[in-house]
Amino acid sequence: MSEKFDTSRLPRELSSVFEELVARDPHQLEFHQAVYEVLMTLTPLVTRKPEYQDLAIFERITEPERQVMFRVPWSDDQGQIHVNRGFRVQFNSALGPYKGGLRFHPSVNLSIIKFLGFEQIFKNSLTGLPMGGAKGGANFNPKGKSDAEIMRFCQSFMTELQRHIGPDTDVPAGDIGVGGREIGYLFGQYRRLRNSFDAGVLTGKGLTWGGSFARTEATGYGLVYFAEEMLRARGTSFDGKRVVVSGSGNVAIYATEKAQELGATVVAVSDSSGFVVDEAGIDVELLKDVKERRRGRVSDYANQRSSARFSAEGSIWEVPCDVALPCATQNELPLEGVQALIRNGVQMVAEGANMPTTPEAIDELRSAGVLYAPGKASNAGGVATSGLEMQQNSGRTQWPFEETDAKLHQIMVGIHENCLATADEYGVPGDYVAGANLAGFIKVADAMVAQGLI
Ligand code: NDP
Repeated sequence: MSEKFDTSRLPRELSSVFEELVARDPHQLEFHQAVYEVLMTLTPLVTRKPEYQDLAIFERITEPERQVMFRVPWSDDQGQIHVNRGFRVQFNSALGPYKGGLRFHPSVNLSIIKFLGFEQIFKNSLTGLPMGGAKGGANFNPKGKSDAEIMRFCQSFMTELQRHIGPDTDVPAGDIGVGGREIGYLFGQYRRLRNSFDAGVLTGKGLTWGGSFARTEATGYGLVYFAEEMLRARGTSFDGKRVVVSGSGNVAIYATEKAQELGATVVAVSDSSGFVVDEAGIDVELLKDVKERRRGRVSDYANQRSSARFSAEGSIWEVPCDVALPCATQNELPLEGVQALIRNGVQMVAEGANMPTTPEAIDELRSAGVLYAPGKASNAGGVATSGLEMQQNSGRTQWPFEETDAKLHQIMVGIHENCLATADEYGVPGDYVAGANLAGFIKVADAMVAQGLI
C-alpha cells in the first residue's frame, strides 16, 4: 500500500491493481502518481467495460512490455572516464511502434522513465496517429559539458540503444536535455552502426536530413492551440491576457512565442536557478539567443533587458497572471503555487510539461473552478508532429512549414473536441482530465482486447 495515495477513493477492482503495483515497485513514487491519477478517472469503465477486467487490461496496461537498463561509459575532455545509466522503457505497442522522448538529466531514474512512458501511451493514443508509448534517457547532466563530451556520450548511449529501436519498432525523440544537437549525434551513430539511413528511427532531426518543419515549435505551439480552444469554449481568448510560463527550454520558448502572437503578454519565464519578470513582455528573440544559441541562463536574459528583473528567491507562481503554463518539469507546481495563482485570479492552467502539477494542487484547481488541462492532452502536439515526421520519412518527402503547422493545429483542435465529447459521454462535462484519460485509455484497451493475450 502506498501511504501517499488514498486508495479508498478507487473502486475495489482498481485499488487492488494499484496496491499490487506499489508492492512490486515500492520506491517508484512518480510512477505511482501517474498511474493513480489515471485510475482515479477510470471508475466508469469497471461497469461499462467488464471485458477489461475479465482480460486483466488494467493489470497489463500498467506493466511495461519491456524495460531496458544499460551502462553508458564515456570519457570527458580530460580523458577521465565516467559511467552513467541508460534506460528505455517500451511500455505499450498496441497502437503502433513504441514512441516517446529521451531525457538527459541527473534526476533520471526508472520511476521517472516509467511515469513518462505510461503517460505517453495515452497521449499518443489521443493524437489519433498510430504510435505506441515509450520513454528513455539517462542520469547524465549535459550542463557545462563541451560539444565533444555531449557527442561522446550520445555515441556511447546509442551504441547500446540501437539494438532495441528501429523505424517500425521504437522511434525515440527529444525531451529535457535532448534537443537538435543531441538528436544529430544520436542519429549519426545509429547510421554508422547500422550502415543504413533509416530516417524514421528518430524524430526531431535537422531539416536537411529528414526532419520536419514545425517539430521544434510543435509542443509549445500545440499547447497554446489547445489552451486557445479551452478559452474559446469559455467565450474568451488569449488576446490581452497576462501569461506566466515556467521553464525556458524548448516547450516554454515556443509556448511564449505563440501566446504572444495571439495577443497575450508573457510576463515571466524561469529555469532551475530562478525566474525573470518582464512587464514589457518577454522578448522571444532575445530569449532564443540566450537559451538556444548561447545555452545561457534566464539571469543572462535579465542582464540584457532593462524591463526585466531576475529573482533567485521566491516562486514564479506568485507573479499575478490570467493564464499559467507550467513548461519545466514534473511536480513543479505544488499546492502553495496553485493557492497563489488562485489568490491572484488565475483563469486557466494548461500543462506544457509532463505531470507538472501535484495531485493536491490539481484538486485545488478543480474545486476552485479554474480551467485545467492535463499535459497528456495539452502537450501532445510534440509527439503528434513527430508522428507527422515519421509519415514524411516513410514517403521520403517534406511538407512546408505552413502545411505541417496547419496539421498540428487541426490535431490539437481534434484532441480538445475528443476530451470534451468523452467527458460529456461519461457524465463529467468540462472535465478535461477525465476526458483525456478515458478517451486515450479506451482506444489502447480496445486494441489490446482485439489483439489477444500478449
Ligand atoms: P528543455 O531541456 O528544453 O527545457 C527544460 C526547462 O525546464 C529548462 O528551462 C530547465 O531549466 C527547466 N527545468 C528542468 N528541470 C527543472 C527542475 N527540476 N526545476 C526547475 N526547472 C527545471 O526541455 P523541454 O522544454 O523539451 O521539456 C520541458 C517539459 O515538457 C518536460 O516535462 C518534458 O517532458 C515536456 N515535454 C516536452 C516535449 C518536447 O517536445 N520537447 C513534448 C511533450 C512534453 P535548467 O536549464 O535550469 O535545467
